Amino acid sequence: MRLSCSDLDAMLPEFLDGSVTAEEEALAAEHLATCQACSLELNELQGVTKLYREHGMLKLPDEARKRIADALGLPR
Ligand SMILES: [Zn+2]
Repeated sequence: MRLSCSDLDAMLPEFLDGSVTAEEEALAAEHLATCQACSLELNELQGVTKLYREHGMLKLPDEARKRIADALGLPR
């Protein structure tokens, strides 16, 4: 089974939480290895998520904040 970009997108919240199974992680890693768009997105999200968790609501543009909230499954 191969993941599509939208499959990976749907997994991002769990992925960022570290709550994916080893199998899901392997599938995601396989997709990320071949898809630059998703790997960039994940990188960006991981960086922002870390800041977000450490500092709470940052002074981000609304658009960015909504994207992050959506990705993390948080209320906007
Ligand atoms: Zn992709």
